[in-house]
Order: sequence, then C-alpha cells, then structure tokens
Amino acid sequence: MRESITIQSYKGPYEVTFTEDITRIIESKSAKGSFIVCDSNVWELHHLCWEKIVDLNRIALIDATEENKSLAGVKNVVRALLSKDFRRDNTILAVGGGVIQDIASFVASIIFRGVDWIYVPTTLLSQADSCIGSKTSINLENIKNVIGNFYPPRQIYTDLNFLTSLSKDDIRSGIGEIYHYFFYDNNPLIYELAEEYNDLLTSRTRLYPYLRESLMIKKSLIEIDEFDQGPRRKFNYGHTFGHAIEAISNFEVKHGLAVTMGMDVANYISMKRGVLGAKGYDQMKQILSTNMPEYRLAEHDVDRYLTILAKDKKNQGSQLRCILCRGLGDLFIENLDIDNKLRKILEEYSRDNL
Ligand code: NAD
Repeated sequence: MRESITIQSYKGPYEVTFTEDITRIIESKSAKGSFIVCDSNVWELHHLCWEKIVDLNRIALIDATEENKSLAGVKNVVRALLSKDFRRDNTILAVGGGVIQDIASFVASIIFRGVDWIYVPTTLLSQADSCIGSKTSINLENIKNVIGNFYPPRQIYTDLNFLTSLSKDDIRSGIGEIYHYFFYDNNPLIYELAEEYNDLLTSRTRLYPYLRESLMIKKSLIEIDEFDQGPRRKFNYGHTFGHAIEAISNFEVKHGLAVTMGMDVANYISMKRGVLGAKGYDQMKQILSTNMPEYRLAEHDVDRYLTILAKDKKNQGSQLRCILCRGLGDLFIENLDIDNKLRKILEEYSRDNL
C-alpha cells in the first residue's frame, strides 16, 4: 500500500499521491481544462495512449534541456500557452523531470501574476527530491538556477512506472540525491540501498521505500524552513562541490552523480581539516563509491575548479560557503577561504582519486 504524503507550504498544504494509473489522472485533469506542459521525450514514449485522452489544443511540448531552462525558454512556453487561449483560472499540468518542473513552475508563478499548477514527476530525481520544496529555477546564460522563486504546486501525482524507461545514468543521478538525504539524516536505509544498488538499477519500482524516505527527510526541513534561510541550507551538502563538477565537466556529469562526488569532496576536505576521522571518511566513501561518476577531477583542472567555486551564489564575500561533515548525520555550515590551503587539499584529492 503506497500512502500519500502531505506537505505544508506557505500557499497551503499539498499532497504527493502515489498512483499506478497516471493515464486516468492525466485524462481527468485534461477533461477539467488543465493545460499540459510535457517533456517531449515523455510524450514520445506515451503519445499513442495519451493522444486519445488529452485535448491536443491544450498541450505544449518542451525538450528537457538546460538551454530551455532559460528566460527565452520561459517566453516560448508563455507564448505557446497564450496562443492556445490559456486563461487565469486555468491550471498548468507539468509532466516531466526536474527541467520541465523548473520551467513550468516558474511560468505558473508569473503568468497572470500566478496560476495553479499540478506536477507529475517522471524521473527518479524529481520523484525523490525536486517535486517538493517549492523552488523554481531558471538559468541565465551559463549560470545555473540564478533566477527563481518559491511557488509550490497544488498537487503531485507520482507513478513509479515512469522509472522503467529512464536511462541508467538518470536512475543513478536520482540515487545520488537519495544518498544525500540519507547521509544528512544518518538513515539506516543507507546500507540497504548500497547493498541493493545493482538490483535497483534493473528492478526500478523497488526504489519506492527509498524514494519515500527521501521525501520524508526533505519534508522535515522544508516545512520549518521553506525559504532556505536556516536549517534547510544543510541540504546543500555535496551541492556546492557538485555544481562545480557539473560545470567543469560541461554538464556531462548528471546532477545527482555530481552531488555524489561533491559529498566525497566535502568529506575529504572535512578529513583534511581534522573534523572527520579517516575511518569515518572511508566508511562513507565505500557507500558513495557505488554511485560515483566516471569523471575524475584532474590535478591540472583544480585552478579552474576553484574559479568556478569562487562564483557560487551562496558565497559570503570572498569565502566559499559550504557544508562540511563530522560524520554521518553530523553536517555543519562552514565558510572556507579560497586559498592555497584549499587548492592543496583539492590537488591531493585529485591524486588520491586517479
Ligand atoms: P531532466 O528533467 O533533465 O530529465 C533527464 C532526461 O530524462 C531528459 O532527457 C528527459 O527528457 C528524460 N526523461 C524524463 N522522464 C523520462 C522517463 N520517464 N523516461 C525516459 N526518459 C525520461 O532530469 P532531472 O534529473 O529530473 O532534473 C534535473 C534538473 O532538475 C536540473 O536542471 C536541476 O537543476 C533541477 N533541479 C531542480 C530542483 C528544484 O527543487 N526545483 C531540485 C533538484 C534539481
């Protein structure tokens, strides 16, 4: 039995409802007049069934690319909706992964000064993480997620059957975010997830308990700090160093895999600064190794990596604001000087991880 989860937000409560019959839900929302903003790959996989049940005059297809997660991409969606006679009492039904979510939620927040939106997440990352938490994010040129606001959906419908068509790397990317929540929480499911890892890549609907627990951990902080001003910041664990891995690899390393490596970098720095023991580092590394990307940070790239870190939007003046680790479940915010000491640690990291 898959139970729904209720999330409290500044715009009122909304539910994550688990379903195995997403077609019926899409049919009913379309019949009630919702406009569908859908990932073009997801549409391609399902159109034979869905084109019979949705109003084709009320659908906009978008390619899930970071280029489309831009002001130009937002303008295209607004234009498409207006050309289809979208009105202020209509609802947007977003169907896709995190990219479609970020575009559709931002559009929903600005069109006619805000309309309701409903979300059907179709990737593991969006089902286990991004679907809740209210954040909308748009890129500006090559700066990721620099424009956005907080705009929660009215309802989320999650069908794990979507995961069966997802690429292996997209499943691994979602697992990276799940690990990140489990490490924050020192959750006992970490060990089961690491043990079952290879089986889960093929039997994807078995990811349900992990995905659900990940949402429950996220819920515990977003409900007390929705606007990311206090304790929610600890969820940046692995992200500061991970975003820079994404950027330095020209976005070839997927977000959740970069976060996996980012957690390892944060742990390594913690060990070198004497707040995390070598045994604790190795224990976490063993788990993270199950999900590590193939990409390696080359020693000659460390300077460029530091330059990218120096531009992180969370920095305090010239200091890098990041999350370090004293052990599983023991994370803390630290401001680091971007100096020779940090460079030496990262060079050592690179040599230790050839
Ligand atoms: P994505 O949306 O980029 O999708 C990845 C790929 O999978 C795309 O090619 C897409 O077309 C395809 N796809 C989607 N569903 C599919 C399915 N069921 N079967 C087959 N293919 C499918 O990937 P993502 O990992 O979900 O999202 C990453 C984005 O999410 C990033 O831009 C990141 O910044 C953003 N994000 C947002 C938040 C937030 O809180 N708003 C949180 C984390 C990440």
